[in-house]
Amino acid sequence: MGFLAQIGWTGTGISIWLRKESTNSKESKMEGFKYQDNLLQTREDKVKLIADRYGLFHQLGKLSEECSELSIECIKSINTGKVTREIVQEIADVEIMIAQIKYLAGLDDALIEGAKTYKINRQIMRIQKEDNYVQMS
Ligand SMILES: [Mg+2]
Repeated sequence: MGFLAQIGWTGTGISIWLRKESTNSKESKMEGFKYQDNLLQTREDKVKLIADRYGLFHQLGKLSEECSELSIECIKSINTGKVTREIVQEIADVEIMIAQIKYLAGLDDALIEGAKTYKINRQIMRIQKEDNYVQMS
């Protein structure tokens, strides 16, 4: 018994069906699984597809979960004094979820970039104040 692969072009990617070969012709129906790689879609399109599939409030829950997982890796890294290997996976998970939330909630990239600039500058000012304070004391 073996497998027969059936490869199709879906318009958005390649679809591969694996059919289990059977000696009994009655059992020789399509079995196995379908593998589809949407090769023609950009990563952004794929993220939107996933986001639309599950919806805003479901994915907000997932973002919350992924933030907790990243938080755990941060704490593990602090406690061991060594950045864990898993932190890469958790950063990727969080970034993917953030991309979905930005898309689903229609959050403006320009607003987020503006907020980042403000927060970075505020922190630089805090550091400068700390340094001045240390020098004066
Ligand atoms: Mg995760």
